[in-house]
Amino acid sequence: MLDAVVVGAGPNGLTAAVELARRGFSVAVFEARDTVGGGARTEELTLPGFRHDPCSAAHPLGINSPAFRALPLERYGLEWLQPELPMAHPFTDGTAAVLSRSVAETAASFGARDAGAYRRLVEPFLPKWDSLARDFMSLPLTALPRDPVTLARFGLVGLPPSTWLMRRFRDERAKALFSGLVAHVMAPLSGFATGAIGLVFALAAHARGWPVARGGSQSISDALAAYLKDLGGTVHTDYEVKRLDDLPPARAYVFDTSPTALARIAGLGRYYDGYRYGPGVFKVDYALDGPVPWTAPEARVAGTVQIGASSAEIGTALRAASREGRAPDKPFMITVQPGVVDPDRAPEGKQVFWAYGHVPSGWDGDLTDALERQLERFAPGFRDRVLARATAGPPELAARNPNYVGGDIGSGAVTGLQILLRPKLSLSPYGTPHPAVFICSSATPPGPGVHGMSGHNAAKAVWRRLRQQQA
Ligand SMILES: Cc1cc2nc3c(=O)[nH]c(=O)nc-3n(C[C@H](O)[C@H](O)[C@H](O)COP(=O)(O)OP(=O)(O)OC[C@H]3O[C@@H](n4cnc5c(N)ncnc54)[C@H](O)[C@@H]3O)c2cc1C
Repeated sequence: MLDAVVVGAGPNGLTAAVELARRGFSVAVFEARDTVGGGARTEELTLPGFRHDPCSAAHPLGINSPAFRALPLERYGLEWLQPELPMAHPFTDGTAAVLSRSVAETAASFGARDAGAYRRLVEPFLPKWDSLARDFMSLPLTALPRDPVTLARFGLVGLPPSTWLMRRFRDERAKALFSGLVAHVMAPLSGFATGAIGLVFALAAHARGWPVARGGSQSISDALAAYLKDLGGTVHTDYEVKRLDDLPPARAYVFDTSPTALARIAGLGRYYDGYRYGPGVFKVDYALDGPVPWTAPEARVAGTVQIGASSAEIGTALRAASREGRAPDKPFMITVQPGVVDPDRAPEGKQVFWAYGHVPSGWDGDLTDALERQLERFAPGFRDRVLARATAGPPELAARNPNYVGGDIGSGAVTGLQILLRPKLSLSPYGTPHPAVFICSSATPPGPGVHGMSGHNAAKAVWRRLRQQQA
């Protein structure tokens, strides 16, 4: 009998498997797709030689993850590449606010009236970032914080809605950039704890940057899988699990799936019925004939570029997708241009370009034209550079990966209490009513992103249970 079986080889499933194997437990992973990776993968989606990241591309949470930092992933081929600027937020007048590694450069890009307010916002947390990141990304209810004072101060600033936090800023440059940071998890700007989301992304940039992985996000997953195999674990691909009986006997079953799928597979009835999914995204991967012709020079050297002319425009786009059930006319966009630092993603002189905007859950329209109209406002001539595009709306995203219910790439709405307490209000979010069944996907704390912390935290719950059984 195996000690643990993990269902799903996304970053959380692989991290959970590695954490268990490192502690001497026998582990096997079963993955529905023909390759490992889940939301951290790389594929030639458009033309030969163009290596696209269909899901995650920028990794502020990956490089700052306490779980990943404790694993020897560099030895297994993972290399973080740092663009000259982590992120730029261009405006229609041809200027840009930036999120730089340097607090001073970032503050200066907001203009004289907001520079001081920004420094006062982030500087107190930066020296404590490592303990704050660990505390923030660990179990919300049961972990003993390493630095309770800093965590409490962070809570005071971050738990109110981001719209409150942004009252510190007087001008649009800081407000628009910060609104965009919050929108990375598709939360409405006025939601509970949304200030914390924006702040985490900003602090992550100052602490360790927003890198891309050399060769594509697949290299994160491949490094985890290779390390797992070295530790004696096994990975079985092309193996979709439909019932617990499909799996070999094990002392623990750990699911890197949505709560809904887990309830169906493990016969948990209505246990997760209260779990809510959020809006979807419409993703486009471009093969370009050269770099994006951004008007703002800062955008040409940034790994990530946020597109939203003002905080009001961003708020309107988020409300349309999350509350009004319609696609936004001027979508807020997150774009990534890995080629600024990883030229081998495309043939010489060419580029891959990654972009998405938010749409309602399950929306089956085509957002390509709206996205490209937005891009043309900040990069006139963009369309002329397009050699090929691969699009995926909510139905395609959900078909490729059932964790993205209705195209929700966060595997669950990041709103209300579910922002912190997911998938249920529970002291043990990784456990289920079945004593041998656990959940480790991004439907559990700390939520979406390629950081492996949900897998890490769930593995801790599993190994405690296994050791209790041994004792
Ligand atoms: C378009 C897009 C853009 C994103 N951008 C970023 C970004 O830039 N940075 C970032 O940090 N994050 C980003 N994310 C989010 C990130 O990819 C996810 O939060 C992360 O991958 C979640 O990891 P996970 O292990 O919980 O689940 P997943 O990565 O979704 O992996 C789950 C795995 O389980 C498998 N599986 C599911 N059900 C079964 C079953 N029944 N049997 C067997 N296998 C099963 C799936 O095939 C999949 O491989 C993005 C996601 C998408 C889709």
